[in-house]
Parts: sequence; C-alpha cells; structure tokens
Amino acid sequence: MNGFLEELERLEVAGKDAVTLYNEISALAMREAEGKISRRPERTAYYLSVEFLIGRSFYNNLMELGVLGETARILANKGVDINVFEEIEDAALGNGGLGRLAACFLDSAAALGLPLYGYGIRYRYGLFKQEIKDGFQVELPDDWQKYGDPWSIRRDGEKREIVFADYTATAVPYDIPIIGKRVNTLRLFQAEGSAEAEKISEYLYPADDTEEGKLLRLRQEYFFSAAAMGELVERHVKRYGRTFENFPKYNTVQLNDTHPVIAIAELIRLLTKEYNVTFPKAVQIVKQTFNYTNHTILPEALECWREELVRKILPDIADIFLKIAVMQENELKTIGYSAEEIDEMAIYRNEVFSMANLAVYIATAVNGVAALHTDILKRSLFRTAYRKFPQKFQNKTNGITKRRWLMLANPELSALIDGAIGTGWREARADHGKLLPRVKELWEAFYEVKEEKKKQLFAYIAEKEGVVIPEHFLVFAQVKRLHEYKRQLMTAFAILEIYYLLKENKLPDFRPSVFVFGAKSAPAYLRAKGIIKFINEIADLVNGDEAVNGLLRVVFVQNYNVSYAEKIVAGSDVSLQVSTAGLEASGTGNMKFMMNGAVTCGTMDGANVEIVEHAGEENNYIFGARVEDVEALKESGYDPNALLEENPLHRRAVSALVDGTFSDGGTGYFKELYDSLTVGASWHKPDHYFVIYDLKDYVDTLLRINRDSADKASFAIKQLTNTALSSYFSSDRTILEYARDIWEI
Ligand SMILES: *Cc1c(COP(=O)(O)O)cnc(C)c1O
Repeated sequence: MNGFLEELERLEVAGKDAVTLYNEISALAMREAEGKISRRPERTAYYLSVEFLIGRSFYNNLMELGVLGETARILANKGVDINVFEEIEDAALGNGGLGRLAACFLDSAAALGLPLYGYGIRYRYGLFKQEIKDGFQVELPDDWQKYGDPWSIRRDGEKREIVFADYTATAVPYDIPIIGKRVNTLRLFQAEGSAEAEKISEYLYPADDTEEGKLLRLRQEYFFSAAAMGELVERHVKRYGRTFENFPKYNTVQLNDTHPVIAIAELIRLLTKEYNVTFPKAVQIVKQTFNYTNHTILPEALECWREELVRKILPDIADIFLKIAVMQENELKTIGYSAEEIDEMAIYRNEVFSMANLAVYIATAVNGVAALHTDILKRSLFRTAYRKFPQKFQNKTNGITKRRWLMLANPELSALIDGAIGTGWREARADHGKLLPRVKELWEAFYEVKEEKKKQLFAYIAEKEGVVIPEHFLVFAQVKRLHEYKRQLMTAFAILEIYYLLKENKLPDFRPSVFVFGAKSAPAYLRAKGIIKFINEIADLVNGDEAVNGLLRVVFVQNYNVSYAEKIVAGSDVSLQVSTAGLEASGTGNMKFMMNGAVTCGTMDGANVEIVEHAGEENNYIFGARVEDVEALKESGYDPNALLEENPLHRRAVSALVDGTFSDGGTGYFKELYDSLTVGASWHKPDHYFVIYDLKDYVDTLLRINRDSADKASFAIKQLTNTALSSYFSSDRTILEYARDIWEI
C-alpha cells in the first residue's frame, strides 16, 4: 500500500479549512515525490525559459503519483469534496503559449523518463489577475503564494551570487518536482539581498516602456541565465575537473525564445574569466551546447539590446557580445558574404545587439514550432542564415501534454477512450489512433460526454461570471492572449453581423450558439484593451436582447488561465483559431481543443495546417487568406475601405465602433480601433491584420458550422475524429523528437 494513501487515511480533517487541508495533503504528496527525485544521468538537457505557466499542481501531481482517484474517495469518506481546493492555487508564472509549452515539455520529459531540467524565475507576482469591471479589464496583483507554496523546496545550500556592475543579487533556488516515470525538477530562482536585488524577481514582465524598466528586464534575463550557467559549470567541474572540451558531451541547453540567449555570453564569461579557457575555445564549446527555439516572427518580439544599456550593468557581457559579433562578421566576410547579407545577419548593428541573430549564429540547432512557421523562418526571417547553415534549421511542431489536457481535464472522454481501446493509450509512448475505426459507433456516447462537459462549463461560468447559458447551446470558443494578430476583433464583428441577421430574421434555421471569450491584454496595450471592452459591449447588447438571446449569447470570462482553459477546452464544440495567416507560429490552444473533440474553425496558420493534415479538412473548417494571399495583398496595396463600401453588413458592424451603438466610456479606444482599420495608425497600414478582408469568409464559415451541427451524428463524428487523430499533437511526440534530433538524450 502506498505510503501517501496510508497517511491520508489517518489525516484528521475535522475543524480544518480548505487551505489547511490543501497544505497538509500537498505536503504528504510532496514527501512522496521528493523521495523519488531522480539522479541526474551524465548527459542532461536543460530548458531555459522566462516563463513556466504551470497552472494548478494539486490535482495534476496526485494524478501523476497515481493516487488522484483514491484521494478523492478517501476525502469523500471524510466528508470533504476534493473540488474544494480548486480556488487555491494556479501558478501563472507565464503569459501564454510559450510558458505553457515549457510546462508541457517538462511534464512530457518526466513521463518519458528523459532527463530534462527547467530553469526560470520564481516571480513574487505572476501574471496579473484580471477582473472585468464595466466591460473593462482591471489588473490585480497575482499573489500566488498567498496560501503557501507546498510544491517547492527551497535550497538554501545552493544559493549563488549574481553580480551586476552596480549591485549583487543572491539567486536562491526553489525546486519543483516534475513527476512522471522520472522525477525531474523545475528550478526557479528567487532574487534576494538588498531591496533593489529583490525587485529582480518581483514581477513577470515589468513594464519596459522606460529605461529603468528595460534594465530590469535585462537583469531578469541575466539573473536566471547566469544562475543556471553557474550551476552547470560547477557541477561539471565537480564531476570531471577543470576540463571543458567534454562540457557539450554532458550538457545540452535549449533556449526557449530569445530571453535566455544571454546565457551564451555568460557561459563564455565563466569559461574565459574563471577557468582560463581561450575565447575561441569557449565559443567552440557554447556552439556545441546551445540550441534555440524561435517562437515568433513579429518584429516587436525579437529582442534587441542597446549596447549602452548592457554595458551599464554587465560590461563583461557587452564585451563578449561584441567579440562574438566581430568573429561572426569576419567569418562571413571570409566566405564571401555581401555587406547586405552580413548586415541582415548582424549580431551588432547601430549600437544594438540582436539576440535572435546571436542565437542563430551560436546554436547547433535552430527550430521553429510548426511546419509552416519553420518554412517562414527559412524563407524570410532567417533566410540568409539558412543559406549558410541549412543543417541548423529544424522543425519541432509543438504539442500539449495529454495527461493534463485530456486525462485530467476530461476524465469522461478518457473513460470513453478506455472503453473503446483499453487503457494502454495513457502511456507516454502510446497513442489513441485505434479510436478512429470506432468513432461512428461511439458518436452518441461522445455526444453525451460533450453535453456533460458543457453542463459543467456552463455551471462554472454561471457561478464565476453570472452569465447563464442555456443547455445544449453550441459552444464556440476563442481563448488566448489578446492580440490584434489573433483577431478577436474579427470574431466580435462576425458576432455582430450574425446578431443583425438574426434581428432581421434572415437566419431561419440558426441553432442556438454561445461565443466564449477569455483573454488578458498586456497592461499597456490599449488597442487590446479596447477590443475587450468592445466584446463586452456586444455581450451586453446580445445577452440583453430578448428577441435574440434564445439563439445567441456572448460571454467574456474573467481571468482566463490554465484552470479555466481545462474547463473550456473540454466543454467546447468549435475552436476558433483565426490569426492572420503567417503570424501564429504554432498555437497550442488549437491542440487542446482538438484533443477534446472540438472542430477547428481557423485560418491556414501555425499548427492549424497540421491539424487539418492529420484530421482532414472535411472534419474541420478552414477559411480566409493563406500566407501567399496575405503576401500578395501587401504587394498589391490592400484597401479595406473598398470592402466596407461593397458590403453593407461589414460597414454596419465596423461602424458600430464609432456610430454611437456602443460606448467606450470616453476612453477613445473605439475610435482608435476604427482608425486602425480604416486609415492606419502608428506605423501600420489600415487593417494591418486583414480583419475586414477575411470577415466575409469567416461569417460564412461560422454559419456553415452552425448548419452542419444540426446533423448531430455527423457533427459528433467529426469532433470525435479530431480526438482520434490528435496523438500527433501530444508533447510526448514533440519531446521524443527533441530528444532524438537535438538533445541526444
Ligand atoms: C494553451 C494556453 C495558451 C496558448 O493558447 P494559444 O491559443 O495557443 O495562443 C494561453 N494561455 C493559457 C492559459 C493556455 O492554457
């Protein structure tokens, strides 16, 4: 008998509140997990990321320990509903997809028994908590440790000093066990020492619109990268002595986006300054150690650091950046690159360091996160580098952990799969493709599961948001960070158009539908905040209209996070993935919905392309401009105003921003949005994201889905087919590819 369960049986619950019980049960589970932490093998992979969007650990860890069901039973016998712990924690030490990917990867590696260790920052406050007041986003601090942090182990014995020109900060490690076949750890560093030092790990993404803010950002990146590199080198020296040729043999480091790229310079600094390795030798070593994952081609997200800024707090690092830049330039000149090409790949230009170009130069492997994205990297963003080092470039299509996103989020669907093909699919290396030949006979059972998950979701939304969604409504969901390229605004216009059509009785067979939104806007991103307000204005109009609200409802859920996502992906029928083609690198939300049996309504972007490749275009709904179309439109000079002239319905929906239909509370948000579509704003052309261009096709597609859903059997079969063919999008597959092609672990 399991020690944890024995202790749980003995646990006294009388008179204890949920928080106390949560901490006591977590501590018992932690004792179990801590005892199982695996020894590091000789060759180990490290994952450096400024974000780890872990979500709630409690249920997941009990599941990974294999005791979730028994725990629920034992607690129920004691009169405690295991769901009472739902409100207690949800570590949001990340923003969105990139951070969630990091968490899924650690989970998969542990499940597969692979030694992958995470390094990041233990932010005092995670991503802000969002409330919607009067339709506006309000940001509150996320004090995620308020009820304690039973899932971390502080390691005072392994502190490390991180030196800046002006002060020193102590990096104190906290280890979070990642439970699976192996128990790996995620090590998050907390900054301590002076009040100034503590600021380094206070906030995830401090506002960087000031010099002060930018410096703090740079300090954060250096802080955890340097702590990690210090540790790797120290461990290496302990095991193998002061010899470093063999460093890459035992250590491989994955840089999750450009934020930790500074680790490259830090490792060179350590080797050259503290261990007398020559600079060229040190460069050799880092070239064999680091790999880089690119997550975006949006220019505003490709980090650049002004030399002056780096020099101010990290003069040695600035020197090393420069030396690498010179080395690269000489190398390129020698092999006959033109000034223009060298400029394009430059690590140092106009007194600025490009982290992406540095990473591409140094990394053994550079990867994109979906096939289309990797093609775009090769064709445009890194085209010159690709010509020089084609062997570096690889694709690693993202994935999601089926343990959290299917087994934990949807035990009902998991049980259905068990019933059909046995429980073997739950193993990390197994898949559930054998479900495919059974989907036709299982559609009714699946339909029941979906109805049940909807019921649960609607009950939760009613409780949290005070918005009632009647039974059986078809659920369309768009949940993800709020960004113009993700085009929540296009969905808002589409809903308005459907609303107008319903008002005029032009959609006689329309099936009752609800649109569920969840999204946080970056605090300084005013246009995104305007879109949130606009959606909420539409929600008020639609939900309050007795003539329509039996057919159409809209809800914007507050504080979208991992735990909310678990409920939404399981209870939705249609996954809205409608980014401007070419701009969503992969998406992982799309995979969560697919795995839970939702059809995708999306553009040919990111991993949507592969989703329809696997599950069939006939089982999903693809619309809108393709990458080539977008490129051609940019060439030919696209004019959204002409489309608005032609299409009165579009005109009406878009004008609603400014014609008095809605109020933005005097903020000017709506006028600004309107202008961005019709005249252009800041450095962009009008309708930079082609919202109006794709709107007609989008509305038609939504209406087609609505019609198709009338045939319950065929629609449920489409949905369940998506589940059956979703194994490719398990992060277990992704991690096996990284392990085989990049890490060689
Ligand atoms: C999966 C996930 C994301 C990423 O969603 P995309 O649709 O891929 O952008 C963002 N936030 C949370 C909370 C998630 O769980």
